Amino acid sequence: MAIDYQAILETIYQEVQPLLSQGRVARYIPELSKVSAQHFGMAVFCLDGRRFTVGDAQTKFSTQSVTKLFALSLAFEREGDAIWERVGREPSGNPFNSLSQLEYERGIPRNPFINAGALVINDILAQRFAQADMAVLQFMRVLADDQKIDFDRDVALSEQRHAHRNTAIAHLMKDFGNLRNPVDVVIASYCRQCAITMSCEELAKAGSFLANHGSIPWNGTQILDYSSAKRLSALMLTCGTYDVAGDFAFRVGLPAKSGVGGGILALVPGELTVVVWSPGLDAAGNSLAGVMALERFTTLTGRSIF
Ligand code: GLU
Repeated sequence: MAIDYQAILETIYQEVQPLLSQGRVARYIPELSKVSAQHFGMAVFCLDGRRFTVGDAQTKFSTQSVTKLFALSLAFEREGDAIWERVGREPSGNPFNSLSQLEYERGIPRNPFINAGALVINDILAQRFAQADMAVLQFMRVLADDQKIDFDRDVALSEQRHAHRNTAIAHLMKDFGNLRNPVDVVIASYCRQCAITMSCEELAKAGSFLANHGSIPWNGTQILDYSSAKRLSALMLTCGTYDVAGDFAFRVGLPAKSGVGGGILALVPGELTVVVWSPGLDAAGNSLAGVMALERFTTLTGRSIF
């Protein structure tokens, strides 16, 4: 029997309502603290073209670390396996903005989804493109088939003014020789990249090439080959949801990437993407209601990678 995705989304929407007041909106980027924790949106983009949404699925939000997935895809597409000389592929087991591991691992970040790794990816892109942040933005516009997608300049500036920890990380990597561009250039570009705003619906569409084994489902354009798409999906599963990726895999069972704006993009390979947004975060930095919504989604649909 066909799965009634719309009915499932509406059930989840009702179920998560009591959770919306339990999470805490990110405050370390002051501009993000202005967003109400009461938002909840969810969008499903099936590779066969069907779409389903509920709640605030059309409202734009700060995608933050979800952009790391797209920046990595672009760098991997351009540079291939050379990127793994500068960034690892293991979960860090540490907070996403930690400095300690980087010191004893000599400036090589554990993976591309912690901040250190994303800064290196931004640096790699800056060697290829005039502006790394513009390259990521343009890439996301193509993937979402929407030229209006843009940065939120207030969020970018707000993060840049408070980027002491990311700047420290960048300096440490520069000292170890793992950053080619000036620290301030990489930080400014990274903050703009993180400030790209999109809705659940737009993100679900933009990420669909990964669920479709590397090709854009509606026009067949190959972004990554089958094997590269598999590798990125594996990294999402092991490293995509901060230092609780193991628990996320246990509860949800899908490759996913989350951000401190409260968005989570998850894939059911070969079938669909599902994006949820709710700005209240749990202690690990994942959307509290978002993780629960995805857990219910895989339970109610019977879809996971396991
Ligand atoms: N721009 C944020 C930072 O670097 C992204 C964090 C996140 O979403 O994980 O702190």
